[in-house]
Amino acid sequence: MAWISSLGCTHELNRSTGHNNDTSTTEDDSNNNNKNNDNDNDNEGGNKEVANNVFIDQIAALCQSIGPKYNILVNSPVIAQAILESASGTSELAVNAKNYFGLKFKKTSQGVKRCPTALDNPYIKVGSEQDASTGQYVSSSMEWFQFKSMEDCVTGYYDFINISTYSNLKGVTSPETYCTLIKQDGYATSIDYTQKLMNVINSYNLTKYDTYNGGSSNMGEIKLKLALGAGHYKYTEGKRCNASLDPNETREWYLNDRICDKVEAGLDAYEGVLICRLDDTTGDTLVDLPGRKAAAEKFGADIYISVHHNAGVGCTASGGTQVYCYWTDKNRAEAKKIYDAVVTQTGLVGNRSEKVANGNHLYECYAPTMDSYIIENGFMDSTTDVPIILTDAHAEKTAKGIVNFLVERFQLVKKSSNPNPNPNPNPNPNPNPEPSMVFVSVEEIKTEQLVAVTLDTLSAVANSYGVTADFIIQSNPGLYKLTDTVYLVNKDTVIYVGNH
Ligand SMILES: [Zn+2]
Repeated sequence: MAWISSLGCTHELNRSTGHNNDTSTTEDDSNNNNKNNDNDNDNEGGNKEVANNVFIDQIAALCQSIGPKYNILVNSPVIAQAILESASGTSELAVNAKNYFGLKFKKTSQGVKRCPTALDNPYIKVGSEQDASTGQYVSSSMEWFQFKSMEDCVTGYYDFINISTYSNLKGVTSPETYCTLIKQDGYATSIDYTQKLMNVINSYNLTKYDTYNGGSSNMGEIKLKLALGAGHYKYTEGKRCNASLDPNETREWYLNDRICDKVEAGLDAYEGVLICRLDDTTGDTLVDLPGRKAAAEKFGADIYISVHHNAGVGCTASGGTQVYCYWTDKNRAEAKKIYDAVVTQTGLVGNRSEKVANGNHLYECYAPTMDSYIIENGFMDSTTDVPIILTDAHAEKTAKGIVNFLVERFQLVKKSSNPNPNPNPNPNPNPNPEPSMVFVSVEEIKTEQLVAVTLDTLSAVANSYGVTADFIIQSNPGLYKLTDTVYLVNKDTVIYVGNH
């Protein structure tokens, strides 16, 4: 565990968040004696559309891609199950075990895992969600499948129902029939499970994901999961073009967003690309850095690209492009490829000493769990850069460079030109991912990777950085509340303490 304050261009203030409450539920196919196994969260008809959109888009794309291989031809009920069972990806099982369907750890009669894509060990639900009053961290004997990615979990769902009990689901194309049959088959014991699913389908208009032509999917294999963020938001202090060079004082977020939009549009021409936008694409809401990183991790991104514009050359002719990365040989080489791909298009050569720069001090690069890069695409206080970076053409070229890099890196193939009646399942996922996520797993507890931090310690550290303990708690999804006065954290976690 280490304390760090971000120092670079990527400062963000946090927005208030709360630790989530688990509402995950479970399949039960026989001799159930667990009264708590049904869908008891209240999402149906709920008002969480914005927060749900990212989750729904991701699940939907995977269902469209994987379902047909199992001859499951309707997606809306499966998406609805995921929404219900995982509280749209916020339940403990979803967050800690990437189990979005409440799949119990079960083996076949041959003694092999019913979900081959699951990890070998079950996740033991620790029930922290129900103990806000006592602060107890209680283990439960219940065992659940855990997965390393959402994709593996969706595959796991189809494997889970790929037994004779559920064989009547194959080939069904009516959502209502599917919901009725899966209830009859015993997936859940809730009396009104069918109606609950239908309510969710209707509330979120999920039937739009039920488009099929002979069972073929328009997604196919997923080749790239890109976490893409436009740095900051509309109202970030500073972070705008210098007034003497741009009377409009164009906001950095606007420039960043314009490029990200063009990257999305450019990648739309390629097969097998999923994009998770990490910022609020309206620019109205700040998504803080821990929230962005957590969303990218939850998304299972292959690569994290954060688009920024720089400042700090004091209205001189200095400037140009820089790419920051966590400082390893491999990352440096990749960052140079990004730099080259972009500058080949834009001509905005970096004339600072480092074209590829050490980003170890930047939150978005620090201790990355995926390949993560920050592109500083010209300086907002450079006399040479500002007239260029304000142009739409420059944004277009930058985006082309980024797309070219990704095409090469992930060997992307253009979509065939024959018209496809299916809408792109993930054209512009709504951002605003909820940043409240807990990544503490039971394995960490078992292996004593966790250390305890008292609230007193947090308060003392917060004081020394001029922030509140609450700020630190809210800003760090990796801080797990054990009791009102004790928090757990992985001993390798970097604790973000804000701007300093
Ligand atoms: Zn920035």
